[in-house]
Amino acid sequence: MMHETLSYGSRTDVGLVREHNEDSLVARPPLFAVADGMGGHEAGEIASEIAIETLVSQAPPTPDAKELGNAVVAANHAVMAASANGIGKPGMGTTLTAAILKGDELAIAQVGDSRAYLLHAGQLQQLTRDHSYVADLVEQGEITEEEARWHPQRSVITRALGGDENMVPDLYELNVERGDRLLLCSDGLYGMVTDERMQAILEEHPDPQEATDALVEEAKLEGGHDNITAVVVNILRDAPQTAKASTKKTRRYLASFLCIFLVVIALAVVGIFTYARSNAYLIAQDDKVTVYRGILNSGLSWYERTTDVTVSDLPSTTQEKLQEGIACGSLDKANETVASYQSNVKAATTSPSTGTTQPPSLSTGAAMSQQQA
Ligand code: MN
Repeated sequence: MMHETLSYGSRTDVGLVREHNEDSLVARPPLFAVADGMGGHEAGEIASEIAIETLVSQAPPTPDAKELGNAVVAANHAVMAASANGIGKPGMGTTLTAAILKGDELAIAQVGDSRAYLLHAGQLQQLTRDHSYVADLVEQGEITEEEARWHPQRSVITRALGGDENMVPDLYELNVERGDRLLLCSDGLYGMVTDERMQAILEEHPDPQEATDALVEEAKLEGGHDNITAVVVNILRDAPQTAKASTKKTRRYLASFLCIFLVVIALAVVGIFTYARSNAYLIAQDDKVTVYRGILNSGLSWYERTTDVTVSDLPSTTQEKLQEGIACGSLDKANETVASYQSNVKAATTSPSTGTTQPPSLSTGAAMSQQQA
């Protein structure tokens, strides 16, 4: 899934041994969380679901660890209230590893033995500390990490939601960078797959959903003894929100400016052509008066027609003007001018008061030119 500053994938799987999947998760930016329920039968499922639902409704919108911690405390009270009201089973409980990730800020609230890891600069680091019996033994130097993986009491947790009204979560606040990857998971993943192998799988799968799927599949290949849940978040950007917003705004302004600019250019071109097409001029060509649409000497002109008016039949001043071209304003005006030339020529040939009729050639010529027009 894609989000403004991150992409993420998630999956939960019953595994190969258990009958129920008691894990729950949420992946709804900026909130991500994993809960691993316990209590037998379906009570664990109910506990982890109540915890996640309460977290979703109470989590802050910003990476504020204290407020996220308050939401986890509210989830604890909700699980306790549910079992007190006969929902689920008495003594049901759940882990909860909750993260709020926004920009380059990460807040985590932690209860139990689900984990948050950060893959940063080629190193998978465990961010949270398990609230478990074996984690205490490892810290006291009594057993190694590897021994903890197979310790008979490895599933004994020392802090959970649902049992203690005064339970407090561990809180973490840290900065992340572009390219970092956050992994939240239940013990069904890290109990089956070593940290080294989890890192290798993350690196083999840049896509967060593919990475999540591959991690779950690996836990099943290793036996799938427990429910397996993983959430992987890729941090895509780490610039401050405000700077990003303003860059985006600037880009949007530039894009709309460019659009307006192109529209203005297009309108200008259309305008110029329309203006040119509405204009007309007359010019002498092969001793005939020729009509053009467009603007004289501009390059923006289109041939309209050749008239039957012979230039050398016209008065000498008109002839001179026609050699240069005569702008007429419109095609109608140009046609009127041509008609006036025609009647002038007609008058010149008929007026010498001899009473002779006009030559038939001229009349047929006029008729032809009208047909052409
Ligand atoms: Mn588990």
